Amino acid sequence: MEELEVDGLVIREVETGEADKMITLLTGERGRLSISGKGLSSIRHKYAASSQLFSYSTYLLKRRNKYWYIADAFYIDNFMELRYDLDKLSLANYICEVVYEFAQEEIENRELMSLTLNTLYALAKKENLPEEQLRGAFEFRMAVQEGFMPDLEGCAVCGRDVSGEDSTLDVMNGRLLCRSCRTRLENDPAYLADETAKILIRVSPAVLAALRFIEYAPPKKFLSFALDKTELSLFSVVCERYLLNHVEHGFSSLEYYKKMKKK
Ligand SMILES: [Zn+2]
Repeated sequence: MEELEVDGLVIREVETGEADKMITLLTGERGRLSISGKGLSSIRHKYAASSQLFSYSTYLLKRRNKYWYIADAFYIDNFMELRYDLDKLSLANYICEVVYEFAQEEIENRELMSLTLNTLYALAKKENLPEEQLRGAFEFRMAVQEGFMPDLEGCAVCGRDVSGEDSTLDVMNGRLLCRSCRTRLENDPAYLADETAKILIRVSPAVLAALRFIEYAPPKKFLSFALDKTELSLFSVVCERYLLNHVEHGFSSLEYYKKMKKK
């Protein structure tokens, strides 16, 4: 029987019976792992604390056929603060749904583990960090790490430095356009005939600076930037559209989070 000792975060739980559930662990060494558990839903279960959503523990796992089972667990943290605030809780659910989408079964992805833990940690513990900033930075960094890193150096067509002016993010081509190149492209029959989706979003100099920062920031620093309120709303729109258009679908947890925020 295969055994594995690993630090993992519960990113999904699905009830499978009265007291039984399947949980999905995110790990750095093995990506996503499916854990089957009899009685795991019962609060009296020995590993109940370590099998709740957002629980972070060291697990000793054993594999029988397709699924892993918990043979032992040493609880580290459960980001308890997330449970006291419905906005934070629903944002955390969205974060986990996005992570689930990108994590691959049994494939190492330490960067993804680190991004997930750092994001949930900041959401739970950093009171003064605006949610729009946290969500946007997470979405954009996720896209960058998972293979959709845009080239933000300058205008991709003419090479012009656009740091000091409004420019356009050409989402599906992962590039920047200056104002005149955008106008020229929009009147170019060859560009119009091209079947790639044309998602062009305006970015301000401050938002561009934030995106550039997130692209290259060390894992623990990707949230360490500041934008004023107006810029933050634009930033949030840019990041959400960037990620969702590359994933090519929406997330029900994001819709739910937005509904919650409106109340
Ligand atoms: Zn240009």
